[in-house]
Order: sequence, then C-alpha cells, then structure tokens
Amino acid sequence: MAFPIPLHDHGACVRGALDAAEAECRRRGARLTDIRRRVLELVWESHQPVGAYALLDSLGREGRSAAPPTVYRALDFLVANGLVHRISLLNAFIGCSRPGHAHAGQFLLCAECGSAAELADDAIDAAIAQSAARLGFTVSRQTVEVEGLCPGCLRRTSEAKPSAAALSGPEHRGGAKPAEAGARRLRGGA
Ligand SMILES: [Zn+2]
Ligand SMILES: [Zn+2]
Ligand SMILES: [Zn+2]
Repeated sequence: MAFPIPLHDHGACVRGALDAAEAECRRRGARLTDIRRRVLELVWESHQPVGAYALLDSLGREGRSAAPPTVYRALDFLVANGLVHRISLLNAFIGCSRPGHAHAGQFLLCAECGSAAELADDAIDAAIAQSAARLGFTVSRQTVEVEGLCPGCLRRTSEAKPSAAALSGPEHRGGAKPAEAGARRLRGGA
C-alpha cells in the first residue's frame, strides 16, 4: 500500500479494513468482539502508527472505561490474527493493509509526519531468508522497518528554502520546521 494521498476518502479505508477484518475473523473462526472491533477502528483512525496509551485515551474520551489489560488483550488478538502490525521502532500499532494474506511486516515509516506504508514484497522476504540461511539461521518472525521521508514530506522539505527567514520568521508555519529537522536528521544531523 502506497503512502496515503492527502485528503483521500479515509472513511473508505476504515470501512474496507473493518469489512476485511470481519471476513478474516469469520474465516479463522475468531470472534471480533465489540472492544476488538473498536480498537481496530481506532488503530485505523489514521495511517500513522498509534501507541497503546493513545488508544486508551481515545476509549476513555468515549466514556468506555477500558483498563490497559483490556486494550493490550484486544491488540494481542488483532496482531495474532494478522489485522494489525506492531511497529517495534515506534512501539505502536498500524492496521494491516492486506489481512488474510500470509506476509511478514515490511514498513516505510515517515520520520516527519509519522505516516507508514506497508510493503508486501516477496523478494525482500526471500532475500532475508536466503541471507539468513547462509548463516545457518532460520527466520521465525521478521519485521522490516525503514525510516525516511514520504513523498509529501519530501516535497515540502525541498520546497522549504533553508534561509534564515524561513527558519525563524514569525509567520513561519508549524509544518515546515519539523521537515527541516527531519532533513537534517537524514543528512546525518548537521
Ligand atoms: Zn485512508
Ligand atoms: Zn500487513
Ligand atoms: Zn511524511
């Protein structure tokens, strides 16, 4: 799945994800209970990985008194059934874009806006398996997490001229500064 286009019909993403989750749970004979479904919906609220505590906050605002273990159990279920991936780098969770298809998690993570895009490239899996096998190693679980800039942030970064005014001007808008910081981080932190 590519990086999301700004202002796309995200409702369609959420509906598609929930429908796919219902179908996958039916296929597996697993039960998508109310709380599991709601947690999945909250994970899908954006294309940015979300932490367990943010999910707890959201549930709390809805007046659902979800205890942390309840949310963790729901997340465990969603991960175990391939509906959600855990991003170790961010200690956060993201909805799977193709549940029901066996695949290892491969993610491009934007260091600026926090968006994630899921790759499902068999060639990457094969390359890892082959390299591991050469070392006599068998892969049991793998997640590939790659940090960088998404197309939108890359565009914003290259448009923002690194003049002193752009960096310190009072009218400077919130979006540009972190983009600069990200670019510096990528260049090795000047
Ligand atoms: Zn979307
Ligand atoms: Zn996936
Ligand atoms: Zn981005």
